[in-house]
Amino acid sequence: MGPIGHFAVGLAAKPVAPKVPIFVLLVATVILDVLAIAFAFAGIEGVKTGIPWSHGLFMSVMWSVVAALLAARIYRDFRAGAVVGLLVLSHWVLDFVSHPIPFSSFSWHSWQWSFGHPLPPDLPLLFGGSPKVGLGLYNSISAVEATALELGMFLLGAAVYVRYIVRERKTA
Ligand SMILES: [Zn+2]
Repeated sequence: MGPIGHFAVGLAAKPVAPKVPIFVLLVATVILDVLAIAFAFAGIEGVKTGIPWSHGLFMSVMWSVVAALLAARIYRDFRAGAVVGLLVLSHWVLDFVSHPIPFSSFSWHSWQWSFGHPLPPDLPLLFGGSPKVGLGLYNSISAVEATALELGMFLLGAAVYVRYIVRERKTA
């Protein structure tokens, strides 16, 4: 899933994590993609290895735990930590539903932009050589439909966020 769809979850999470700035909530939802880009530059992930360090289920859970502990500590709030951890994990869940992304999208396997033809699953359960998963929603809908879906999600998330902000202003 693209960043717009992930951001939707971060926006919607604000009411349950009032202590955490919205910027942090948004970054938490896409941190696995940030890691993927960093790991690709560092040569840790790529053609041969796939994306186990950023998008493997095992490591995604690990990153979620790390993020949860960090946030709980920084905001001195258990719930803030739990929400941030779950946001990091939500990235994997949404990618599990939508991946692989076959259109107008960079393939970490072939290192090229590909258009249209379905790709095999690209989310490893563990590390190199482990089974790869992905329900492949974006294999079966068009790029336009996927964009509409993500924009719809974003609007819903934004509505939850704005409603929360307006209420806070009123009670302040
Ligand atoms: Zn991703």
